[in-house]
Amino acid sequence: MVTQKLFDDGELFEFEGKVLSCEQVKKGYEVTLDKSAFFPEGGGQAGDVGTLGNAKVLDTQEREGIVYHKTDKPLEVGSTVTGVIDKDIRLRRMQNHSGEHLIMGFIHQMLGYDNVGFHLGKDEVTLDLNGVITDEQLRECELKANKAIARDVKITVSYPDDQTLASLDYRSKLENMQNIRIVTIDGIDVCACCAPHLSSTGKIGLVKVLSHESYKGGTRVHILCGLDAVEVFSQRLDTVREISRLLSAKPEKAADFVSKLLSDNNALKQQLADIAAKQTDEIIKGLSNDGRGSFCVFADSLDMNSMRRIANEGVALTDGVFGVFSAAANGYSYIMASSSVALRARAKEINAALGGKGGGSDAMIQGSVTADEKTIREFFGTLDT
Ligand SMILES: [Zn+2]
Repeated sequence: MVTQKLFDDGELFEFEGKVLSCEQVKKGYEVTLDKSAFFPEGGGQAGDVGTLGNAKVLDTQEREGIVYHKTDKPLEVGSTVTGVIDKDIRLRRMQNHSGEHLIMGFIHQMLGYDNVGFHLGKDEVTLDLNGVITDEQLRECELKANKAIARDVKITVSYPDDQTLASLDYRSKLENMQNIRIVTIDGIDVCACCAPHLSSTGKIGLVKVLSHESYKGGTRVHILCGLDAVEVFSQRLDTVREISRLLSAKPEKAADFVSKLLSDNNALKQQLADIAAKQTDEIIKGLSNDGRGSFCVFADSLDMNSMRRIANEGVALTDGVFGVFSAAANGYSYIMASSSVALRARAKEINAALGGKGGGSDAMIQGSVTADEKTIREFFGTLDT
């Protein structure tokens, strides 16, 4: 028997129903009732949760007109049970869903677009438009939606007959469907939809567009409505307040401050790179090795690229091993290069002698050591013997 659905009144959170069947399934039971206000998953919205008698309802699904309540406990067939829908979760979903219809109504009025994809998730709601919308157009629709919330416009559910349907202009037009359910926001939107809705726009509270991006030739718009929107925005406000505090800037000036910080930071990076390049040039100019044995040079905090440049020049001046050591937190970072000594095979021995770690190829190894300059220089003196 097809379940009699009670969620045309979206604000009916408690009802009584007779248990028609109770089947054990994977991890729980599937219960059917003669009637139910639980909304089964559909149209981008998750199934309701709550309780049936003393059993928890973990999910609600529908197959061929029958509503299946997934419960954690069995219920006695033939008994009458009280169903209670988790009001907070359902209310938030209805705020998001009715809010989506509301802003979509204004987008449709303005641009004629349809919603070709809808997802009502836990942390975000997305709607996919079959066309391109600008920031300004979205902002205008968002403002109109919020003004309609302030006007507290009626939302109604109806099942028009075929003749009325044929002449009715509504979104999500479905062909060859019986009992099409129409959700109307007076004077703003008419849409075919199976989900429970609030009874007026005032209960949506707030519609906020979070962002939008190009998607499959159209636009994906991220929105949040009602209590979910309030929560997300107070979290974001906390973040802005913290950024303002760190910058000692007013919240509305924070972005300008960050932008200035970033350009200052880039200028500093460039200055450091210039200094490093100059230091590297000077080290390269000063490289000399009359005896052509192994030798090394020391520098202050050079980056790896500069060290590699020096290593490439120094290795040409030796028959043994050339090393570049750059002062680092706990000793030195190093690059060693050689065209005659297979370094990879000796990396372990070198690292052990200098308290370090690292490796690489036969021609070049790199890593870090904890040994001091004197120990390193002495070690280089022993390399050719
Ligand atoms: Zn809908």
